[in-house]
Amino acid sequence: MILDAFRKRYGRDSGVRVFRAPGRVNLIGEHTDYNLGFVLPIALDLSSFVAVADSPDGALRIHSEEKQQTREWPAADIGSLAPAHDWTDYVIGVARELVLAGFSIAPKLLLVRSTVPEGSGLSSSAALEVSSALALLGGREIPPLSLAKLCQRAEVGFVGTPCGIMDQYVSVFAREHAALRIDCRSLESEAVILPDGIEILAVNSMVKHALGQSAYKERTEECAAAVDAIRRLDGKVQSLRDVTVAQLERCMPSMPKIIARRARHVVTENERVSLFVNACQRGDVERMGQLMVESHVSLQHDYEVSSPELDFLVDAAIGIDGVLGARMTGGGFGGCTVNLLRQGAGERFRATITHAYQERFGIIPQIFDCRPSHGAGEVKNFERIPTRATLSD
Ligand code: ADP
Ligand code: MG
Repeated sequence: MILDAFRKRYGRDSGVRVFRAPGRVNLIGEHTDYNLGFVLPIALDLSSFVAVADSPDGALRIHSEEKQQTREWPAADIGSLAPAHDWTDYVIGVARELVLAGFSIAPKLLLVRSTVPEGSGLSSSAALEVSSALALLGGREIPPLSLAKLCQRAEVGFVGTPCGIMDQYVSVFAREHAALRIDCRSLESEAVILPDGIEILAVNSMVKHALGQSAYKERTEECAAAVDAIRRLDGKVQSLRDVTVAQLERCMPSMPKIIARRARHVVTENERVSLFVNACQRGDVERMGQLMVESHVSLQHDYEVSSPELDFLVDAAIGIDGVLGARMTGGGFGGCTVNLLRQGAGERFRATITHAYQERFGIIPQIFDCRPSHGAGEVKNFERIPTRATLSD
């Protein structure tokens, strides 16, 4: 029980509240968020839980069970701390944004327990940010969009990761049994009910290539260059979101080849999100799978953010009976693939993909069930919070 862990750590368990925020897997719409386009993530059962109670002294203390570390600061200093360049930046960054938004940060004891694997593209960072923000707010009201934006600002401004809004948004707004189609320009979203008869599984390649951070910056610059080139032909274009496939085809011959390919990924990926939503609504699971594979090919060849491990996992997956489609998910250069299966195909899939990956790379991949879960909030029933023992299974 999380209360036992809290008592062990802090010597008390009265007045403890627990707040949860989920990780996510993006079904389709990759590298479109910072181009103000469309994404279609689902929130996961895998979540960050933050238990919180008042602190007996003036300190803000935080313990992460995953990091096995405790840190503390005078609560009065929270608004003026500099980044420490470690995991606490996610929490302090959020606390700082709360102060900037006019919320006082009282002395608190926090205990973090997360089932979202770190650094695998399932967004353990946004889960930590949103659950910490709710814990620090301790039940004080905040408009959900402000919460998502504030957490994103913490990650961009304090942690220093230039991320889009998707992870924090879906962690706040997700609905059970549904994916969330987010318009990253208007910041409006709609729930997209997933058809019956499917399973979604994430496969963790367990590899993270260092290239990720620098490539992300490079891609944002390449997309900006593409917008500049297209704007010379059509002054109304503000971002790649505004560009249609036909329009891009007209512009491509006058653009540098690499820039044109980057733009082609983003423009076609936005279109694939719409097509995927339509297929979802028709219950056309084959088409959904096909679009996921097309997305992967585009990320692999046009956007060039895949990796040999991810390409292998996708190729192996689509050869397995009952698999409708697969693609890399998240920023790329490692992390997870997301796989769409017919209901009942999961068991064979797990065994086959594990064997194939181990044979090829000598690594056992972690595999996660991705049932669409609801967004962040307070957990009243502590029995539902996983124990440490199940975490390390
Ligand atoms: P992702 O969001 O895909 O999991 P990121 O690199 O964005 O990967 O975020 C991972 C980082 O978030 C970790 O390196 C760590 O600093 C922080 N983090 C996530 N979960 C926890 C946790 N339970 N305890 C402490 N830090 C965490
Ligand atoms: Mg992250």
